[in-house]
Amino acid sequence: MPTPCHDLHCHSTASDGTLAPAAVVRRAATRGVDVLALTDHDATAGLAEAAAEARRTGLGFVPGIELSVTWSHQTVHIVGLGIDPADPDLAAGTARLREFRDWRAAEIARRLEKHGIPGALEGARRFCKGAILSRTHFARFLVEEGHARDVRQVFRRYLVKGKPGHVPGQWASLEEALGWIRGAGGLAVIAHPARYRFSATRLRQLLGAFRELGGAGLEVVSGSHSHDDSLRMAHLARQFGLLASAGSDFHGPENAWYELGRLPALPEGCRPLWHSPAWQAATGLRPVAEAS
Ligand code: AMP
Ligand code: MN
Ligand code: MN
Ligand code: MN
Repeated sequence: MPTPCHDLHCHSTASDGTLAPAAVVRRAATRGVDVLALTDHDATAGLAEAAAEARRTGLGFVPGIELSVTWSHQTVHIVGLGIDPADPDLAAGTARLREFRDWRAAEIARRLEKHGIPGALEGARRFCKGAILSRTHFARFLVEEGHARDVRQVFRRYLVKGKPGHVPGQWASLEEALGWIRGAGGLAVIAHPARYRFSATRLRQLLGAFRELGGAGLEVVSGSHSHDDSLRMAHLARQFGLLASAGSDFHGPENAWYELGRLPALPEGCRPLWHSPAWQAATGLRPVAEAS
């Protein structure tokens, strides 16, 4: 039997994805995914629909989330896998993050208006189908208005540090995020670790702090990682005693290079998250046999 395909990071319309939760699950099934985690930003609203569709489709499903964290003056994303969405502390924590998002959205719109782009809050809201307003929704509006040719260009021109629509994040602390995820029965994983603009030393500090707080894994394979990134992260995971995770970070079919299930194998020597006893405890899914 081939090794089951685990895609443990993706988004739906419950955050900044463009497919409804059930549609994400159906697409994953047709792309050869065996076990899928839906991990919307700071929101669990899509999980019930996705879980129901996964039961119909016969796909292994892991309820997840991607929490926004501020650490060392940067935004870091922590994926929680096997969480109980009804957990009150997690619910209260994500509600606080969504409140910040609402405030930030108004502030982004105010800054863009000063820069000569009116109506961005209403514009972004038109692209938003769920409970959280993301910079991605602003980006889609700005592309529609002709301010940039694609979402990436909008980020570069308007939404990152030093640009007119940038508002610094004030997200959860690392300690809070791990507390919420672990309190809700989940495993914490550092998302797309090669994407952060930390020095090598800072990144190692992050991994150390994360491990100290009970973090479980590192996303060694990510849609946004090169082969070299994955090799580097595999090495760090081993050094820090972290398990290896994999996720496409799929946001929708528009973005062809982050596709569900399109994931290279974990590099040699990684300990996959789904081989661990902790995986079964958190997800109720049987750990996959070591031999593969
Ligand atoms: P937010 O959490 O609202 O600040 O938005 C962050 C989201 O924007 C990420 O999850 C990505 O989906 C998207 N994003 C961030 N940076 C870029 C970029 N440079 N190009 C395209 N999308 C980006
Ligand atoms: Mn996103
Ligand atoms: Mn992310
Ligand atoms: Mn993501």
